[in-house]
Amino acid sequence: MSAPLLEVSGVSKHFGGIHALTDVALRVQPGDIYGLIGPNGAGKTTFFNCITGLVPPDAGRFELAGAAYKPAQVHKVARAGIARTFQNIRLFPEMTVLENVMVGRHVRTHSGLLGAVLRTPGFRREEAQIEERARELLAFVGLQAHVHDRARTLSYGDQRRLEIARALATEPRLLALDEPAAGMNATEKQQLRLLIERIREQGCAVLIIEHDVKLVMGLCNRVTVLDQGRRIAEGTPAEVQRNQQVIEAYLGASHQPQ
Ligand code: ATP
Repeated sequence: MSAPLLEVSGVSKHFGGIHALTDVALRVQPGDIYGLIGPNGAGKTTFFNCITGLVPPDAGRFELAGAAYKPAQVHKVARAGIARTFQNIRLFPEMTVLENVMVGRHVRTHSGLLGAVLRTPGFRREEAQIEERARELLAFVGLQAHVHDRARTLSYGDQRRLEIARALATEPRLLALDEPAAGMNATEKQQLRLLIERIREQGCAVLIIEHDVKLVMGLCNRVTVLDQGRRIAEGTPAEVQRNQQVIEAYLGASHQPQ
C-alpha cells in the first residue's frame, strides 16, 4: 500500500456544549475518491473546516503527504496542497468566469505587490501564464463557452463546476468537495461524476461530502461515516452499506445496496 496522502487522527471540535467532532480519524490514499457521509449535523462540514484551516480544531494530528501541517490558515493549507469547494457556493458573482479562476490561481504566484503595482515584465508574464492555465481549467470542466460571462449568470450546475475549476487552479493534491451534487439534476450529476473521475485521473485525490448515497457508493472507493461527531464506520462502499450501525443511523432499513 502506498503512503497516505492525507492522514488525520484525533480530530475534535466543540462549539459550546455541542461536540461537533470527537476523536475522528481519516486516511486518504493517493488516487482515492473518498466519501464522507452521515446524517445532517454529523460533523462533516466541520471536519472539512478543520482540515482546511477555516475553523481551528480543539485537537488533532494532520499530515499531508507525510508532512505534518497545522491547519491554522486557509492560504497555507492551500499552498500545502488541499483545495476545497463549499456547500453554499462562494464565487465572486460580479466577476467573470475567467477572473474567478484566476483568483484561485494567485495562491501559486510569485510576483509581489510591488510587481503588481509597477506591472513589471515578470508580473505580466506571470499574469499571462495564470490566464492560460485558467482557460485550460475552464475547458477541463466544460465551461470554455462561458469564459467572459459574469459568474452570477451561470446555471447552478455550472457555478458548481466553476467552483471546482477555481479550486483546481491552486494545483491541489487533494480536492475536498462539500456536497457538490446538491441541487443538480440527473444529467448534471452524471457530468459531475465523470468530472470527478477525470480529476482523479489527473493525479488529484478527491474527498467528497455528499448526501446522494447512490452517487457516493458508485463513485467512491472508500467511505467514512460520521454520526453525532463520531466515526461509526469506515470501509469500501459494500462494507459500509451492510454495516448495521450505518443502516440505523443513516441509510435506513429500506436502503438497497448500490
Ligand atoms: P449537514 O449534512 O447538514 O451539512 P454536517 O454533517 O456537515 O451537516 P456540521 O455542519 O459539521 O454537520 O455540524 C455539526 C454540528 O456542529 C451541528 O450540531 C452544528 O449545528 C454544529 N455547528 C457547526 N458549526 C457551528 C458553529 N460555527 N457554531 C455553533 N455550532 C456549530
